[in-house]
Amino acid sequence: MAYSLKPLPYACDALEPHMDAKTVEIHHDKHHAAYVTNLNKALEKYPELQSKTIEQLITNLDAVPEDIRTAVRNNGGGTLNHDLYWDLLSAKGGGKPSGALADAIAKKFGSFESFQEKFSATAVAQFGSGWGWLCVGDNGQLCGCCSTPGHDSPLMRGVVKCPGKPILVVDVWEHAYYLKFQNRRADFIKTWWSLVNWKKVEELYLAAAK
Ligand code: MN
Repeated sequence: MAYSLKPLPYACDALEPHMDAKTVEIHHDKHHAAYVTNLNKALEKYPELQSKTIEQLITNLDAVPEDIRTAVRNNGGGTLNHDLYWDLLSAKGGGKPSGALADAIAKKFGSFESFQEKFSATAVAQFGSGWGWLCVGDNGQLCGCCSTPGHDSPLMRGVVKCPGKPILVVDVWEHAYYLKFQNRRADFIKTWWSLVNWKKVEELYLAAAK
């Protein structure tokens, strides 16, 4: 197996009451795990690709053989997006960013509150399954908020309209919230803000920004 499921950085019930243990367990152990399994399956025929990182694979999907390109797009994206999603949540999360990231958000969006509104509205408006993102663009500056369908990632050059380096992400597939919030995606996102680990988001920002 070329790729393995990244363990959660906390226990399944660590994010209660904002994110319930059952949702986290099924989301990570079943959904996220299935993307890893299916990525490995897709790459079985191409052992020479297995030494690449998932990031390398999805950044340049044109270099992936056509017969597995869609599978790598969906399952490579699915794997990497979830790795980042879990990594940016914490029981001690929430609040606001500080330092250079706070300054950059204020400069780009006017205030943290207007950024939050914009990010939430963009993620809510994503039709069907997908993801909401904040990224750093090629110019080293924050991009506007964007969303992608399926498991598309801003890393997918030539695929997405909003390429960039992701620093914040929310999963808006129904499997991310349906057990607790049913159809109320906006309520889920409102609650999700309480879990954002801004220290990690800042680290990603500082690594990507110029
Ligand atoms: Mn998901």
